[in-house]
Amino acid sequence: SDRKYDPYRPTSFDQITKDAKEFCQELMPKPEEETRKLALLQKLSDITVEVFGEAEVLPFGSSGNGLALANADMDVCVFLNPKNGSEEVSPVEFVERIGDRLEKDPDFENILQLKRARVPIVKLNHVNGIACDIGYQNDLAIWNTRLLRAYCRIDERVRDMVVIIKIWAKRRKINNPYTGSLSSYAYVLLVIHVLQRRGVLPNLQTIVAGNGKVPFWDCQGFNRYFFEDIANLSRYWQPTPESQRQSIGELLYEFFRYYASEFRYANHVEDTEQAQSAPAADSKPVVKNRYLFCIEDPFELNHNVGRPVDRYS
Ligand code: ATP
Ligand code: MG
Repeated sequence: SDRKYDPYRPTSFDQITKDAKEFCQELMPKPEEETRKLALLQKLSDITVEVFGEAEVLPFGSSGNGLALANADMDVCVFLNPKNGSEEVSPVEFVERIGDRLEKDPDFENILQLKRARVPIVKLNHVNGIACDIGYQNDLAIWNTRLLRAYCRIDERVRDMVVIIKIWAKRRKINNPYTGSLSSYAYVLLVIHVLQRRGVLPNLQTIVAGNGKVPFWDCQGFNRYFFEDIANLSRYWQPTPESQRQSIGELLYEFFRYYASEFRYANHVEDTEQAQSAPAADSKPVVKNRYLFCIEDPFELNHNVGRPVDRYS
């Protein structure tokens, strides 16, 4: 379909590729920022242990998957361990108690307790300049972070593409699920889908060592299995020679071409698990809830990551 005449197709992709690469380099977080994030992580960990007893505080999202831009927020998730003597609390109680404790610390500002969100969190800013979201016992978030990190390790074009698309979405002000547009996570899934269609990436959720059956590894009732042994991936999957030649410029063009003119929003569902878009007839949630943009979460199959999108955005 992309052989058809297209007045927007650039005549040279080289300049786009060159500019995009320079841009990505500039937007990499500096080591100094990493140091500030680590210090904040340690502080949050100390406070959590003080409030609840035994606890683990893990980074996820872009701080955990290598897809952070400079000045990105830090997402962290707290895991309490009642077996080792910590308390057992509900997500809402967690948000309240950690939120109230952080209020007392002058190092934290703009503390928001989002108790009614789908996933309750505390949002805050640390005086060292880092914005942070604190979630609770969200195993799936840790696993989807690991899945995205695995995709990044397969091909360095993944990070470049994600960085450019994220920065584009931020500048166009269409990167905020609270105001009717997509989260960064959603954009990353859109990028992976396009790269899978182009043969740059495989579907890690269907590759099994020894080519056996896909196992079921339970996580909150969903299958969190994916092939994570990227060093040995070439035994089971190879990129097509054509896909290896695609430059960032060409892939970026493909991203916009696909979502502008091929993806049928009314009856396609975005699905990184099955690289081909499936007609809506196969996916009841699309029809039932009249979602405008359907992006299937790779693990939580009944969760539409595109749900926040409103008609305007
Ligand atoms: P940024 O650098 O812009 O903050 P990010 O890569 O951290 O981007 P976020 O949108 O902040 O992406 O999401 C962070 C993590 O939160 C994701 O990796 C994912 O684990 C989880 N997450 C975010 N939005 C959703 C969602 N709609 N459904 C499921 N998980 C989500
Ligand atoms: Mg984030």
